Amino acid sequence: MQNEKIIEVFKKIKYPGTDKDIFSMHMVDRITIEGNQINIQISIPHTDNPYKGDINLSAMTEIKKVYPDAVVNIHFKGGHEFDTNNTPTTSKIKNIIAIASGKGGVGKSTVAANLALCLKKQGAKVGLVDTDLYGPSIPIMFGLQGKRPEIKEINNVQNIVPIMAFGIPIMSIGFIIEANKAMVMRGPRLGAIIKQFFNQVLWPTLDYLIVDLPPGTGDIQLSLVQSVPVTGAIIVTTPQRVAVADAIKAANMFTTDPVNVPLIGVVENMSWFTPEELPNNKYRLFGKGGGQQLARLYQTKLLGQIPIVQNIMEGGDSGKPVSLDEESITAQYFNDLTTNVIDQVAKRNNNKAPTDMLNITVH
Ligand code: ADP
Repeated sequence: MQNEKIIEVFKKIKYPGTDKDIFSMHMVDRITIEGNQINIQISIPHTDNPYKGDINLSAMTEIKKVYPDAVVNIHFKGGHEFDTNNTPTTSKIKNIIAIASGKGGVGKSTVAANLALCLKKQGAKVGLVDTDLYGPSIPIMFGLQGKRPEIKEINNVQNIVPIMAFGIPIMSIGFIIEANKAMVMRGPRLGAIIKQFFNQVLWPTLDYLIVDLPPGTGDIQLSLVQSVPVTGAIIVTTPQRVAVADAIKAANMFTTDPVNVPLIGVVENMSWFTPEELPNNKYRLFGKGGGQQLARLYQTKLLGQIPIVQNIMEGGDSGKPVSLDEESITAQYFNDLTTNVIDQVAKRNNNKAPTDMLNITVH
């Protein structure tokens, strides 16, 4: 076995978010060959760098192609300083999915968090962005309160390293500003922050980036569609009439000119309540049919109906969303919803052209 052959492998592995390979970025520190063992040390910016898994998998796969019988050990070391002019981009994100609602408290963040976890469980590469400045709940739902992301300067540009939880890179407005300060921020400042969340966060290669929006149709929604091409939007509502009336406004904002972001579907949350001791009884506390009505109105799919269950609320509060619990019956509702989302996103991509970024300034 030869070092040169292994170096060739690393020349083909790009550092996520850049067009540079990790060998020319001086990240391969050492290669030693002993018998059939290949030991490699790779330096990365930080030991919990979100791309470690990607790099490890690519390296293992490619080396095995060259030396199928070798035992490959890859050791990652933190503290790597970049010295190249890389510009991270969102070009390695296949689908950007906005999670929207007409009003607050309908379970939008709960759906975003559990959808992200189920996508991950079903084998997708997924990231999560929380732009809900009125109450960024994603840090709490993932047990990341008080965490601050690492800042990495690349080519004189400050880049944010997303925080990892359960294998998902996460960025939240709650990591950078206190909620009471975010609420009084004006449009242009918010717009700049949203742009930064996409263009200056070191996102790894992703199949889906889930964006939890604030409720309603405000500056953040507009900044989002001006910053990135949004693949599609999912509208979360309760079955209640007033919630549906508000959800229509949110849906209209996406589907009409000039925004033109297609809907992936509707999620009806808090559809019914079933007490543990009476599992066959369904109490429809918020009425019936709102999700279906909304989906029909926009000729889109009702992706799922989620009942009111205590462990959904508890999972959110305790930093371990219910979808992490394989045994839970409730998790199955989110799994089914996720299968429908994957399906509908694929259909959208087959039937419609990619979304154009909104290029106008809205005053
Ligand atoms: P939004 O993002 O729309 O403001 P959240 O996802 O923060 O709403 O949910 C509001 C509250 O309701 C949270 O405390 C959450 O845990 C709880 N919740 C959401 N959906 C359910 C559900 N299906 N069953 C029980 N509690 C829920």
